Amino acid sequence: MAAIPHGAIWTAARATPRRCSVRSSAVHGGDSARRYLEAGAGDSTALLATLVKTAAELGWGSWSFGERGATRLALEVADSPFAAGYGVADTEVCAPITGMLQAVASLELGGACEAREIECCARGAASCRFEARLRTKP
Ligand SMILES: [Zn+2]
Repeated sequence: MAAIPHGAIWTAARATPRRCSVRSSAVHGGDSARRYLEAGAGDSTALLATLVKTAAELGWGSWSFGERGATRLALEVADSPFAAGYGVADTEVCAPITGMLQAVASLELGGACEAREIECCARGAASCRFEARLRTKP
């Protein structure tokens, strides 16, 4: 079994400014996640586990993936540094995490996904909650 390239997924994330856009994070995150899968660690369960571990190591909060259906992947993040850094806001502020989830969910669910943050600590929620859904074909 190939060695898991720790942090490969996060190469782009590390260099990403704190308030980068969802699109930018999704594009770069998708590229590195895809490279990760192509590198021989193509087990999606391992991919999610590695994301959880690496997120913690990089200070991206405490991630836990929730419901994973055929068309939906849920993620809860405690201690999001983006919400903590932003302070009180009237909108969700964790776009980099949303972008990363969107990229990973597209690999997990096998098609283009749309991710969004449902609840955010910056808006007073106890934790940040995200979901990604497979885009329905027109
Ligand atoms: Zn948040």
